[in-house]
Amino acid sequence: MPIKMNKEKQVVRKDVLVVGGGTAGFVAAIAAARNGASVLLLEAHDHLGGTHSGGMVMMIRSMRHMRAPGSFQEKKLMVTGYESSFEDEQLVRSIAQEYIDRMLAIGSAWGQKGQAATRQMFDPEIAKWVIEQMVQEAGVEVWLNTQASDVLMDGNRIVGVTVESLHDSIEIHAGVTIDTTGDGEIAAAAGAQYEMGSPEDGKHQPLSLYFAIGGVNLDKTLAYMREHPDEFGRDYVEKSLQLHSEQKPFTMIAFKEQIRKALAKGEYPIPYGLKTVDPDAIMYVTRTMFRNGKFRYDFTYHNMDMAYNIDGTDRVEMSKATLAMRELANKMAIFYRNYVPGYEDSYLAYTAQSVGVRDTRRIVCDYTLTDDDVLNGRTFEDGIGRYGSVMDVHDKSGKKSVSLVAVGGSGWFHIPFRSLIPKGIENLLVAGRCISAEYNALGSVRSQAASMVTGQAVGTAAALSVKGNATPRELPMSKLQGVLTSQDQII
Ligand SMILES: Cc1cc2nc3c(=O)[nH]c(=O)nc-3n(C[C@H](O)[C@H](O)[C@H](O)COP(=O)(O)OP(=O)(O)OC[C@H]3O[C@@H](n4cnc5c(N)ncnc54)[C@H](O)[C@@H]3O)c2cc1C
Repeated sequence: MPIKMNKEKQVVRKDVLVVGGGTAGFVAAIAAARNGASVLLLEAHDHLGGTHSGGMVMMIRSMRHMRAPGSFQEKKLMVTGYESSFEDEQLVRSIAQEYIDRMLAIGSAWGQKGQAATRQMFDPEIAKWVIEQMVQEAGVEVWLNTQASDVLMDGNRIVGVTVESLHDSIEIHAGVTIDTTGDGEIAAAAGAQYEMGSPEDGKHQPLSLYFAIGGVNLDKTLAYMREHPDEFGRDYVEKSLQLHSEQKPFTMIAFKEQIRKALAKGEYPIPYGLKTVDPDAIMYVTRTMFRNGKFRYDFTYHNMDMAYNIDGTDRVEMSKATLAMRELANKMAIFYRNYVPGYEDSYLAYTAQSVGVRDTRRIVCDYTLTDDDVLNGRTFEDGIGRYGSVMDVHDKSGKKSVSLVAVGGSGWFHIPFRSLIPKGIENLLVAGRCISAEYNALGSVRSQAASMVTGQAVGTAAALSVKGNATPRELPMSKLQGVLTSQDQII
């Protein structure tokens, strides 16, 4: 007869519980702790930073305006020098800036002290360590490798979550619970309404698994581009060569001729869910990493749309897609070695620790940020921060490249606090890519700088709410906005 072990049952109490220690979650936890709350941060992975660090998304877009007018193509955006701009107005500061400054001080971010670049490059490996330092210094208790498994409700009020393992069963009770899981896992389990996918067909943007290739001779790659400017576009090649010579960030796009050749021989790996690719429409960017004080030209980081029509909240679909994407990363490295000049002696160095999921649940909150709000640069009485970076929406069919549409009005919009309070539920807040926004609007506010802005707002609101004995919904906006601005956030 098998013997059933008695699980140890525990109850833990905190002022604020943050579930998900990723891009928004680490900032939320720091903000809550610095504003006087006892904070527990749960993270399912073994490191903090989420998509920002383990996902290897090594460019924060954007703590400034991206002020190009109208709608434009990815390539054009790459060329315009946005990679290295400090010119447009900075919109995001506070904890995000402090974090960048700490990374800069140890050679792990490119830029200038006290400022953030339009496209802020950083080293995602060192990011884990710096984030972990900042969170611990703020006094946050961190539980890694810990997944929230259920929610505890009292009517429409969330009381906390449970954590179940083979050996223990823990109830975590908190004054305010913050959902920064990316997928809105906690809010959905608490009964919040949510929207998924595009309004036309409910489908999602493609997934990506970042990967890194080592042993690259980038001088040779750039020499090839110099000799074949028409393959890439003359402006683009000139700008890339200039940025490279100035030790500034630059981005390489798809090697279309090489892709055409490989396709003709049946040697180009096709993304999961597609039958073929159009080299002219492909979404593919390669960047060099800023690591220990300089850009490294023997190592490139690759981001391509890899798996189509996947629901990132479906375990089975996600598993199939992840297996396919890892195979694709390996095959892409072989394609690069065999076809792209400068990669002859290269090797796949590693794939990201977590899959890049662009959109899943958008939790319906007291206000849903609309595409129109973003396109018109709207301001709100309950704005908790500004954001001004493009609507970045990857094509769901694989037939077109990414669509990048600039923010209208004066180039930025407010993120309303109401978009962070799930409708009908008390004491629960959301931040990061699961906030309340229409599909295209999310293309803008899913970015890392916006995730940090919403993270800081909910962390601060949670602490104020517990201290003031009010639900987040009851908090006077002037109080929350006053604390945020006094802590160097721009509203
Ligand atoms: C491929 C790709 C490229 C991108 N490129 C850029 C770019 O160049 N620039 C830019 O600014 N933005 C970019 N983005 C967008 C941006 O990186 C993300 O939208 C943003 O980082 C999401 O932040 P988040 O905090 O919502 O989620 P995440 O950073 O993913 O954090 C969620 C965390 O919650 C944890 N978690 C989930 N469920 C649980 C649970 N039940 N219990 C405990 N923990 C849990 C996860 O492990 C994770 O650590 C990109 C996104 C992708 C996918």
